[in-house]
Amino acid sequence: MSTKYVYTFGDGKAEGKADMRNLLGGKGANLAEMNLIGVPVPAGFTITTEVCTLYNQEGKDAVIKLIENDVKAGIAATEKLMNAKFGSKGEAFPLLVSVRSGARVSMPGMMDTVLNLGMNDDAVKIVAEKSGNARFAWDSYRRFVQMYGDVVMGVAAGKGEHNPFEVEIDKLKAEKNISNDTEFSAEDLQELVRRFKIVVKTKTGKDFPTCPWEQLWGAICAVFDSWMTERAVLYRQLNQIPEEWGTAVNVQAMVYGNMGNNSATGVAFTRDAATGEDIFNGEYLINAQGEDVVAGIRTPQEITIEGSRRWAKMQNISEEERAAKYPSLEESMPAAYAELNAVQQKLEDYFHDMQDLEFTIQDGKLWMLQTRNGKRTGTAMVKMAVDMLEQGMINEETAILRLEAAKLDELLHPVFDKESQSKAKVLTKGLPASPGAACGRVVFFADEAEEWKNRGEQVVLVRLETSPEDLRGMNVSEGILTARGGMTSHAAVVARGMGKCCVSGAGEIVVDYHKRSFTVKGVTINEGDWISLNGSTGEVYLGKVATTEASLDHDFRTIMDLAEKHTRMYVRTNADTPRDAKVARDFGAKGVGLCRTEHMFFEGDRIDAMREMILSDTVEQRRIALSKILPMQRSDFEGILEAMDGFGVTIRLLDPPLHEFTPNEPESQKYMAEKMGISVEVVKEKVDALHEFNPMLGHRGCRLGITYPEITEMQARAIIEAACNLKLKGFNPKPEIMVPLVGTVKELRQQANIIRCTADVVFAEKGVKVDYMVGTMIEIPRAALTADQIAEVAEFFSFGTNDLTQMTFGYSRDDAGKFLPEYIKKGILKTDPFAVLDQEGVGQLVQMGAQKGRSTNSKLKLGICGEHGGEPSSVIFCDKVGMDYVSCSPFRVPIARLAAAQAAIMHTNK
Ligand code: ADP
Ligand code: MG
Ligand code: MG
Repeated sequence: MSTKYVYTFGDGKAEGKADMRNLLGGKGANLAEMNLIGVPVPAGFTITTEVCTLYNQEGKDAVIKLIENDVKAGIAATEKLMNAKFGSKGEAFPLLVSVRSGARVSMPGMMDTVLNLGMNDDAVKIVAEKSGNARFAWDSYRRFVQMYGDVVMGVAAGKGEHNPFEVEIDKLKAEKNISNDTEFSAEDLQELVRRFKIVVKTKTGKDFPTCPWEQLWGAICAVFDSWMTERAVLYRQLNQIPEEWGTAVNVQAMVYGNMGNNSATGVAFTRDAATGEDIFNGEYLINAQGEDVVAGIRTPQEITIEGSRRWAKMQNISEEERAAKYPSLEESMPAAYAELNAVQQKLEDYFHDMQDLEFTIQDGKLWMLQTRNGKRTGTAMVKMAVDMLEQGMINEETAILRLEAAKLDELLHPVFDKESQSKAKVLTKGLPASPGAACGRVVFFADEAEEWKNRGEQVVLVRLETSPEDLRGMNVSEGILTARGGMTSHAAVVARGMGKCCVSGAGEIVVDYHKRSFTVKGVTINEGDWISLNGSTGEVYLGKVATTEASLDHDFRTIMDLAEKHTRMYVRTNADTPRDAKVARDFGAKGVGLCRTEHMFFEGDRIDAMREMILSDTVEQRRIALSKILPMQRSDFEGILEAMDGFGVTIRLLDPPLHEFTPNEPESQKYMAEKMGISVEVVKEKVDALHEFNPMLGHRGCRLGITYPEITEMQARAIIEAACNLKLKGFNPKPEIMVPLVGTVKELRQQANIIRCTADVVFAEKGVKVDYMVGTMIEIPRAALTADQIAEVAEFFSFGTNDLTQMTFGYSRDDAGKFLPEYIKKGILKTDPFAVLDQEGVGQLVQMGAQKGRSTNSKLKLGICGEHGGEPSSVIFCDKVGMDYVSCSPFRVPIARLAAAQAAIMHTNK
């Protein structure tokens, strides 16, 4: 059997279905499924994602030849169902189609749709005649020339220029003295078509194609080409979507929202994508087509009365004015609204998730053009999952698996401080498009947002509206403010997807790109000025507004309780201070996975004692210095063990290269010389002697403890004394002493001996004993390779995947910034291996270390303490290799807990 490249749908039948999204793309699969469940969808067909892959491998001509007959058959089937003819000469209504891209996962705004394809000088006349509506015919034609010119023929605006087609529209509006494009007459639109064709010719040197088939192949190929454009590549990078997936192409009969005042087009969400509330909402425009609603050209109206009233209130518009000028769909087209409301309910019930819908009403009749699981903010994500669980729509496992762990981050982020906010000057108010608090300096261009950000500035991107070209700039901005566009505008949808604060449609601001400023109610804000945005209320403030911690609500707790119930691993935190440990414990951390002792030495005058120790010549001198450090360390450890009372606390012995602590400035050298009663020259010599060519691989980690055993002894004493003191006070401390940078079992054995002997001495002195463990970091490849030997001495392993990644790849952590971005851009690496664990390479060492370790010590406790411990995909990997816990920074604890629960569910389901 030959491969099937084209799948048709229409009139309640379809060759594809929802679970074929890999082959048909999300849009195509759901168009098929909507047909199957009796939702009205215009007929058409889907060209598979496999064809996209072939296109990239074998080129255009080969692919056209391969699918030519199937596409012809698809058009013929569509003609039949829609009772129209592609390339009609007058014998039937012309079949016009849309050509739409659709990847497996939705990539908002990345692939451009062409509408009304098939239009030409003949078709426009037949459409005008047969519909009895010349204005509609010419409106469709001018839209087609504009979109096709833009998407397929590459007519584009230069930087700072306006889109050349929009320029023509504005010119004609001025000539005709009208302000709204709905006021154009049929003749005006005909004139626009003429001018648009001239624009195409001057900008591209080519005539606008008149043959519908030529148009169709041009559009299909443009969709395939768009898969490899820079912005598509960037979106895939940001969202970790593999290039191999490809996009499908959907060719679908047009339905017309621009047929007059009984026609409309719109988008809707079955629940509130910003807050998660179970409220049907959306926007529509009368007598409009396609992306008009999201393009922000006209102000879209709300779908429900309730939504419309809320909107009017925010815009300070009276109820009378609202009802007259901006009625809801519920009011203006009650029958179509009722049908839409029934369909949205049906689709949500069917897909068991919040749906993002696109629809068109043609002369009173509803057509659905798309449904997909809607993007949502972190807050909405959590609320919807909890609500749907409580509504019995989904079970606990689904509720957990559906959450995007990394997005919990948004809930933990600061919000504006109430007091500071109440004092701030409100400049204006727009729509609360994506919640959060943002504060930054104003920039007007996306590329400049990037430049500023690279200089270390915090920016807010201010635009009339955004488009896919702005993606990079949006990604680096604290927040986004637009003058135009509604809750479903590009800016709003993309910002919500990114979890970024956004205020859209702030109609009072007047943006001047040339002057690089905007004005609002007489106030001018220039590039570089500070503003603050409240994405939850839509308010825009002058200057910086202070922020405070977010408070965690019922839904968040419900999710965390569920995670607790389903998880196998537990989560610890990386904390060097009692305060961090407490924060993490409140987030549900059960212990400290990594307490770095050296971090404690940069505070106050502690560094002096440390420097004295480093600069010492003899063991005796060193011991004197160490005896000054001992009480400081002991009290630190008491604090942290108390904060994590009852849970294990892994304390790592001194790890970093000593030169990090040496006095390098002449002044501090002089100071130390005086303090120690030696000459400056001697201090300087010692500092020079400590210099290393490759400190990352130098005299650090347990190598310090091997060469200066008294350091290990002091640290072990400080830890055990702290634990004994707490125990005497009635606490239950559980220290786990970790030897860093072990490469051979002998290093560990020597260090463990010192620790255990010291502990026995302290127990005897104190007359009390505590439970403690001795273990090691697995961070040198040799340690992973010989983990079976090491586990005979170690009671626990903690995988230090930062250093393990450094040494496995041979990438210096301190220098990788110079080449890693390029590696990712060129596709050599998919992600930064210091952020996302490289499961293929480094992961093998982790897995081997775990297996070998447990083979000689079945009780060996396993955990991870690198940055990866808070990164969801890495956490899932840790579960797979059987770790007992992961450890991460305090604010990532909830993310890790959720990811751990997801891992447990995934791995038991298997
Ligand atoms: P995106 O992936 O950017 O959402 P779509 O392919 O969904 O792009 O197309 C954008 C819009 O174009 C749709 O929301 C719809 O309004 C309009 N559109 C697409 N196909 C048709 C069609 N067959 N008839 C009428 N409008 C259409
Ligand atoms: Mg689009
Ligand atoms: Mg769409």
